Amino acid sequence: VEDSVAQDILRFEESFVGINKRYRLINRIGEGTFSTVYKAEDLEYEKYNNRWDLDERENSKWASPAQRRRPSRRPHYVAIKKIYVTSSPIRIFNELDLLHDLKNSDSVCPLITAFRHLDQVVAILPYFQHRDFREYYRDMRIPEMRLYFKSLFLALQSVHGKKILHRDIKPTNFLYNPQQARGVLVDFGLAERQGTDWHQCACALPSEERRYRINHSVYAQTQQAGPQTSSYPKNETRSSRRANRAGTRGFRAPEVLLKCTQQNTSIDMWSAGVILLTLLSRRFPFFHSADDIDALLEITSIFGRKKMKETAILHGQVFETNIPSYSDAGHSLEKIILWCTGRTGDKAGPKKELDEDEKEAVQFLYRLMECDPTKRITAAEALRHPFILKAVE
Ligand code: ADP
Ligand code: MG
Repeated sequence: VEDSVAQDILRFEESFVGINKRYRLINRIGEGTFSTVYKAEDLEYEKYNNRWDLDERENSKWASPAQRRRPSRRPHYVAIKKIYVTSSPIRIFNELDLLHDLKNSDSVCPLITAFRHLDQVVAILPYFQHRDFREYYRDMRIPEMRLYFKSLFLALQSVHGKKILHRDIKPTNFLYNPQQARGVLVDFGLAERQGTDWHQCACALPSEERRYRINHSVYAQTQQAGPQTSSYPKNETRSSRRANRAGTRGFRAPEVLLKCTQQNTSIDMWSAGVILLTLLSRRFPFFHSADDIDALLEITSIFGRKKMKETAILHGQVFETNIPSYSDAGHSLEKIILWCTGRTGDKAGPKKELDEDEKEAVQFLYRLMECDPTKRITAAEALRHPFILKAVE
């Protein structure tokens, strides 16, 4: 363990009085915007679980009663999530409350318990053995992708079944173990229950009515030379719209970027689509946008101006851009993947086509990265899609 990490662990143990009575901190495994996560050994697992954890041999029907009762010497690891004290109590409560609701979903990392010391809250989760996405995204094969997404959609199906939006689906929040072909969702820090108010966004209106309700615009203009040129119109008089834009740039669905106020569980399916695009194109991160307008433009560069205008109208917005490089029709996802993997035929490799497996993956990708959230595939439907049905363990 690095010096700085060891110091950080020491500071944490000193400030959170009593934590090392029960847990032996081993390493720091995550450091995000909202928390620091440590790996630790639960020193009192047996005591608090009131049972002996049996290993396979001890559990077998041939084991003697004495053997069966012998406590396992296998250590029990946990992840200790130290939520930053700057997070609001409501936010912290929300995360713990949702995790509590999801405790019976076996693809959601369950909450074991939580502690508070002064203003510091920690959540204790079972440690889940997984591989870092950065280690395998470049060489994951299609059969492995089928398994990865089957596991992800099983998890999303159970979360969405409870009408909960995760809101931050991305590789670091889906801990995947390729050996077991199983992953768990973590990080419900931005998650929320699906809202019930269906009268603010135009997407809740019948299509004929939508066009008459347009009152917001999203602009993107070419950057003029010189300092301090704004890329947004100066005399904007329209009221700005407030909507939940939580999540991670690059994984946000168009309706999130367009500030739709009736976001539902389909926003997570778009984010899952971005993961699939990442794996197929072998580019991570795939999108690099600095802000929401940039993010919309990145999506425009794929789907084209026409599609983005239609998508904006769904949410009562007008999408305008004078940037000449965006075509009306955009590009096919097949072409994008061929470009990204150097198969366009110019200097790079000889193969200019996607193979059959990849073509099927792209068909599936179109269902996930569907700009109209009402047409986007759901987790339950995704599990019945041929791409997922062909997953073999
Ligand atoms: P944040 O809100 O700061 O993003 P997360 O809950 O996403 O916090 O955790 C951050 C990182 O810590 C994860 O990306 C993962 O690497 C690691 N982590 C979190 N929970 C676990 C767990 N139960 N088992 C193993 N690693 C975990
Ligand atoms: Mg996270």
